[in-house]
Amino acid sequence: MESVSKQEALEALKRELAEDESLPLRESNLVFGEGDTDAEVVFIGEAPGQNEDIQKRPFVGRAGQLLRLLIRGLGWREEQVYITNIVKRRPPENRDPLPEEIEAYKPYLTRQIRILRPKIIVALGRFSMNYFLPDAKISRDRGKVFKIGGTLLVPLYHPAAALRSTSLREVLEKDFKKLPKLVEKFDELMESTEGTADGTPETSPQTNLF
Ligand code: URA
Repeated sequence: MESVSKQEALEALKRELAEDESLPLRESNLVFGEGDTDAEVVFIGEAPGQNEDIQKRPFVGRAGQLLRLLIRGLGWREEQVYITNIVKRRPPENRDPLPEEIEAYKPYLTRQIRILRPKIIVALGRFSMNYFLPDAKISRDRGKVFKIGGTLLVPLYHPAAALRSTSLREVLEKDFKKLPKLVEKFDELMESTEGTADGTPETSPQTNLF
Protein backbone atom coordinates (compact mmCIF):
# COMPACT_ATOMS: atom_id res chain seq x y z
CA MET A 1 0.00 0.00 0.00
CA GLU A 2 1.32 3.42 -0.89
CA SER A 3 2.11 5.46 2.19
CA VAL A 4 0.16 8.66 2.75
CA SER A 5 2.32 11.77 2.27
CA LYS A 6 2.80 14.19 5.14
CA GLN A 7 0.86 16.77 3.16
CA GLU A 8 -2.11 14.44 2.73
CA ALA A 9 -1.99 13.37 6.38
CA LEU A 10 -2.00 17.03 7.51
CA GLU A 11 -4.87 17.88 5.17
CA ALA A 12 -6.89 14.98 6.55
CA LEU A 13 -6.11 16.12 10.11
CA LYS A 14 -7.18 19.67 9.27
CA ARG A 15 -10.50 18.42 7.85
CA GLU A 16 -11.09 16.37 10.97
CA LEU A 17 -10.35 19.40 13.16
CA ALA A 18 -12.71 21.58 11.12
CA GLU A 19 -15.51 19.06 11.50
CA ASP A 20 -15.03 18.28 15.20
CA GLU A 21 -18.03 19.92 16.85
CA SER A 22 -16.89 18.99 20.34
CA LEU A 23 -14.06 21.55 20.22
CA PRO A 24 -14.31 24.90 22.04
CA LEU A 25 -13.93 28.33 20.34
CA ARG A 26 -15.77 27.21 17.21
CA GLU A 27 -17.06 30.77 16.72
CA SER A 28 -13.50 31.69 15.62
CA ASN A 29 -11.79 30.59 12.41
CA LEU A 30 -9.53 27.56 12.26
CA VAL A 31 -5.83 28.48 12.10
CA PHE A 32 -4.19 25.14 11.46
CA GLY A 33 -0.56 26.08 10.77
CA GLU A 34 1.65 26.58 7.73
CA GLY A 35 5.08 25.93 6.33
CA ASP A 36 7.26 23.14 5.02
CA THR A 37 5.86 19.74 5.96
CA ASP A 38 9.48 18.47 5.98
CA ALA A 39 10.67 21.32 8.22
CA GLU A 40 13.44 20.52 10.66
CA VAL A 41 12.18 23.24 13.00
CA VAL A 42 8.58 23.76 14.14
CA PHE A 43 7.56 26.91 16.05
CA ILE A 44 4.58 26.52 18.37
CA GLY A 45 2.81 29.54 19.83
CA GLU A 46 -0.16 29.87 22.11
CA ALA A 47 -3.32 30.66 20.13
CA PRO A 48 -4.27 32.86 17.18
CA GLY A 49 -5.02 36.55 17.75
CA GLN A 50 -7.28 38.87 15.78
CA ASN A 51 -5.11 39.14 12.66
CA GLU A 52 -4.51 35.40 12.60
CA ASP A 53 -8.27 34.79 12.92
CA ILE A 54 -8.98 37.10 9.98
CA GLN A 55 -6.23 35.71 7.72
CA LYS A 56 -6.53 32.11 8.98
CA ARG A 57 -2.73 32.04 9.21
CA PRO A 58 -0.55 31.76 12.32
CA PHE A 59 1.69 34.62 13.48
CA VAL A 60 0.76 37.31 10.96
CA GLY A 61 0.15 40.20 13.42
CA ARG A 62 2.83 42.30 15.14
CA ALA A 63 4.25 39.43 17.19
CA GLY A 64 4.24 37.29 14.05
CA GLN A 65 6.13 39.93 12.11
CA LEU A 66 8.83 39.89 14.78
CA LEU A 67 8.92 36.08 14.75
CA ARG A 68 9.26 36.03 10.96
CA LEU A 69 11.94 38.76 11.07
CA LEU A 70 13.96 36.68 13.56
CA ILE A 71 13.58 33.56 11.40
CA ARG A 72 14.80 35.43 8.31
CA GLY A 73 17.61 36.91 10.43
CA LEU A 74 19.05 33.41 10.74
CA GLY A 75 19.33 33.24 6.96
CA TRP A 76 16.33 30.91 6.86
CA ARG A 77 13.24 31.37 4.74
CA GLU A 78 9.88 31.53 6.54
CA GLU A 79 8.64 28.79 4.22
CA GLN A 80 11.32 26.35 5.31
CA VAL A 81 10.04 26.12 8.89
CA TYR A 82 6.56 25.19 10.12
CA ILE A 83 4.54 27.52 12.36
CA THR A 84 1.49 26.62 14.43
CA ASN A 85 -0.18 27.04 17.83
CA ILE A 86 -1.33 24.80 20.67
CA VAL A 87 -4.89 26.12 20.43
CA LYS A 88 -6.10 26.40 16.84
CA ARG A 89 -8.81 29.03 17.24
CA ARG A 90 -8.76 32.53 18.72
CA PRO A 91 -9.95 32.94 22.32
CA PRO A 92 -12.32 35.94 22.62
CA GLU A 93 -10.67 39.32 23.31
CA ASN A 94 -7.25 37.62 22.98
CA ARG A 95 -7.56 36.24 26.50
CA ASP A 96 -5.20 33.47 27.59
CA PRO A 97 -6.29 30.00 26.50
CA LEU A 98 -8.07 28.07 29.27
CA PRO A 99 -6.68 24.74 30.49
CA GLU A 100 -9.71 22.94 29.04
CA GLU A 101 -9.17 24.60 25.65
CA ILE A 102 -5.53 23.49 25.61
CA GLU A 103 -6.64 19.98 26.59
CA ALA A 104 -9.33 19.86 23.89
CA TYR A 105 -6.90 20.71 21.08
CA LYS A 106 -4.13 18.50 22.47
CA PRO A 107 -4.92 15.33 20.46
CA TYR A 108 -4.70 17.38 17.25
CA LEU A 109 -1.38 19.03 18.08
CA THR A 110 -0.01 15.65 19.15
CA ARG A 111 -0.96 14.17 15.79
CA GLN A 112 0.29 17.22 13.87
CA ILE A 113 3.72 16.87 15.54
CA ARG A 114 3.77 13.12 14.87
CA ILE A 115 3.16 13.75 11.19
CA LEU A 116 5.74 16.55 10.94
CA ARG A 117 8.43 14.74 12.97
CA PRO A 118 10.68 17.82 13.35
CA LYS A 119 14.15 17.76 14.85
CA ILE A 120 13.53 20.88 16.90
CA ILE A 121 10.37 22.24 18.47
CA VAL A 122 10.56 25.87 19.55
CA ALA A 123 7.93 26.54 22.22
CA LEU A 124 7.07 30.24 22.14
CA GLY A 125 6.04 31.57 25.55
CA ARG A 126 5.00 29.93 28.77
CA PHE A 127 1.75 28.33 27.59
CA SER A 128 3.50 26.47 24.82
CA MET A 129 6.46 25.62 27.06
CA ASN A 130 4.21 24.36 29.88
CA TYR A 131 2.29 22.23 27.39
CA PHE A 132 5.46 20.14 27.00
CA LEU A 133 7.13 20.84 30.36
CA PRO A 134 4.47 21.54 33.01
CA ASP A 135 6.96 22.49 35.73
CA ALA A 136 9.25 24.70 33.65
CA LYS A 137 9.55 28.45 34.27
CA ILE A 138 10.02 30.66 31.25
CA SER A 139 12.47 33.12 32.89
CA ARG A 140 14.60 30.21 34.16
CA ASP A 141 14.30 27.72 31.32
CA ARG A 142 14.09 29.77 28.11
CA GLY A 143 17.01 29.07 25.82
CA LYS A 144 17.66 25.65 27.41
CA VAL A 145 17.40 22.51 25.34
CA PHE A 146 15.25 19.60 26.48
CA LYS A 147 15.18 16.18 24.92
CA ILE A 148 11.67 14.84 24.48
CA GLY A 149 11.62 11.49 22.75
CA GLY A 150 13.35 11.97 19.40
CA THR A 151 12.94 15.73 19.41
CA LEU A 152 14.79 18.64 20.98
CA LEU A 153 12.53 21.20 22.63
CA VAL A 154 13.67 24.80 23.11
CA PRO A 155 11.43 27.19 25.05
CA LEU A 156 11.85 30.86 24.08
CA TYR A 157 10.16 34.05 25.19
CA HIS A 158 7.00 34.77 23.21
CA PRO A 159 7.63 37.48 20.57
CA ALA A 160 4.64 39.44 21.95
CA ALA A 161 6.48 39.71 25.29
CA ALA A 162 9.60 40.84 23.42
CA LEU A 163 7.56 43.63 21.80
CA ARG A 164 6.73 44.94 25.28
CA SER A 165 10.25 44.84 26.72
CA THR A 166 13.62 45.75 25.21
CA SER A 167 15.47 43.46 27.59
CA LEU A 168 13.27 40.47 26.75
CA ARG A 169 13.73 41.24 23.07
CA GLU A 170 17.51 41.15 23.50
CA VAL A 171 17.27 37.79 25.24
CA LEU A 172 14.94 36.43 22.55
CA GLU A 173 17.32 37.57 19.79
CA LYS A 174 20.27 35.96 21.60
CA ASP A 175 18.42 32.68 22.18
CA PHE A 176 17.23 32.62 18.58
CA LYS A 177 20.82 32.60 17.35
CA LYS A 178 21.34 29.19 19.00
CA LEU A 179 18.85 27.51 16.68
CA PRO A 180 21.04 26.87 13.59
CA LYS A 181 23.67 25.16 15.75
CA LEU A 182 21.03 22.90 17.28
CA VAL A 183 19.89 21.82 13.83
CA GLU A 184 23.50 21.27 12.77
CA LYS A 185 24.42 19.30 15.90
CA PHE A 186 21.12 17.48 16.23
CA ASP A 187 22.51 13.92 15.90
CA GLU A 188 25.31 14.61 18.37
CA LEU A 189 22.94 16.23 20.87
CA MET A 190 20.44 13.39 20.63
CA GLU A 191 23.17 10.94 21.52
CA SER A 192 24.34 12.80 24.60
CA THR A 193 22.49 11.80 27.72
CA GLU A 194 23.72 14.29 30.25
CA GLY A 195 21.80 17.48 30.74
CA THR A 196 23.26 20.91 31.30
CA ALA A 197 21.87 24.40 31.09
CA ASP A 198 24.20 25.62 28.37
CA GLY A 199 23.08 24.06 25.18
CA THR A 200 23.30 20.33 25.68
CA PRO A 201 19.97 18.65 26.20
CA GLU A 202 18.34 17.98 29.50
CA THR A 203 16.55 14.67 29.41
CA SER A 204 12.94 15.30 30.18
CA PRO A 205 10.93 12.72 32.09
CA GLN A 206 8.15 13.37 29.60
CA THR A 207 9.16 11.05 26.84
CA ASN A 208 5.71 9.96 25.75
CA LEU A 209 4.03 13.18 24.69
CA PHE A 210 4.29 12.53 20.97
N1 URA B 1 0.46 34.72 19.20
C1 URA B 1 0.45 33.38 19.19
O1 URA B 1 0.76 32.72 20.18
N2 URA B 1 0.10 32.78 18.06
C2 URA B 1 -0.22 33.43 16.95
O2 URA B 1 -0.51 32.78 15.93
C3 URA B 1 -0.19 34.83 16.99
C4 URA B 1 0.15 35.46 18.12
